Amino acid sequence: MFTAFLIKYAEIGVKGKNRYLFEDALVQQIKYALKRCEGDFKVHKTQGRIYVDALTAFDFEETVEHLKTVFGISGICPVVYVEDEGFEKLCGTVVKYIDDVYSDKDKTFKIVARRARKNYPLDSMEINREMGGAVLDAYPQMRVDVHKPDIELNIEIREKIYIYSEIIPGPGGMPIGTAGKAMLLLSGGIDSPVAGYMIAKRGVKIDAVYFHAPPYTSERAKQKVVDLARLVSRYTGPIYLHVINFTDIQLHIYEKCPHEELTIIMRRIMMKIAEHIARETECLGLITGESIGQVASQTMHSLAATNEVCTMPVYRPLIGFDKQEIVEVAEKINTYETSILPYEDCCTIFVAKHPVTKPNLNMIKKHEQNLGEKLDELMKTALETDELIIVQA
Ligand code: ATP
Ligand code: MG
Repeated sequence: MFTAFLIKYAEIGVKGKNRYLFEDALVQQIKYALKRCEGDFKVHKTQGRIYVDALTAFDFEETVEHLKTVFGISGICPVVYVEDEGFEKLCGTVVKYIDDVYSDKDKTFKIVARRARKNYPLDSMEINREMGGAVLDAYPQMRVDVHKPDIELNIEIREKIYIYSEIIPGPGGMPIGTAGKAMLLLSGGIDSPVAGYMIAKRGVKIDAVYFHAPPYTSERAKQKVVDLARLVSRYTGPIYLHVINFTDIQLHIYEKCPHEELTIIMRRIMMKIAEHIARETECLGLITGESIGQVASQTMHSLAATNEVCTMPVYRPLIGFDKQEIVEVAEKINTYETSILPYEDCCTIFVAKHPVTKPNLNMIKKHEQNLGEKLDELMKTALETDELIIVQA
């Protein structure tokens, strides 16, 4: 029965002269999401509102699912629209609408009419009153409540007439493309896909980098990261995923540095490489899935030691989250099942039995000197052999 959707978006950040940028980005992201659905749609901006009109038959559930991946949408209202064939006919349509949508009539309601077209014979107040009366005649068990109704029935008089009452929550946030771009350090774990989702939710476009260590990490482990990037790209749009071969660097650290410092030194080098690629691709920051105290490499001391190599801002949206809270988001965005597949991660292969939890930065820097010029060469080679995969849902 529904043939259109009214898209509600938060007003925050859309006031003033930037409003159209926000709306245009939102329209573009909606179009992108709907390309993956069956059916043809027209997405249009009319008098400060965004509508999605179905031009052909479409799958309601599927369409709503995809609209729920568009950041910037706060609510999705399924709309019935009808031709203007007089007020009496309209009342009949509304009475039928209520019956179709609400089988239980033991509810309070209110009619909220808006006239975008002033030549309609009744004004908004008259429509509210007359139509309220027609609904009460049809369903005597319903009651009017103008303050906190169960059902707010919206009637918008435009070229056609729009009827809607349900709001399906959207993901919130800001449309992708309204902020800059950032580089996500994406591993095969639970955390980093969630971290990417959370920063993208603020309108930030995402590129990603994955460090793999063949043959210590398998093709399947890499494929898992590609799969995770694809799941995240449902929300973010296409992701440029850089795959960096980290094996020789890891072996070199393994040979030259104390084993309990391996993880920290490795993470410092990962950050340096990620920052290098970020700079070349016009990213304005890095994103990681770190959270204080989760593992030895994420104590405050370790984070400080890792962070010390970066000059760009590092966004760590999960920093104050407990694991369970992260898992809840991972389940919501459908990355959890993929993240828990048991393929090895390049960090777990070279981990020491007793990694330092309070690294001493001076010691770390001293030991890093053992890596010598060879490290620069290895980093150069790693960057030159960057494999770029464009991932898209
Ligand atoms: P995750 O669940 O995201 O893998 P984790 O709990 O396993 O995180 P670490 O392995 O310490 O934690 O990694 C911390 C962060 O460093 C990750 O969230 C990710 O952003 C980045 N990272 C770790 N390993 C890699 C890798 N192989 N490639 C790219 N980024 C990585
Ligand atoms: Mg990990």
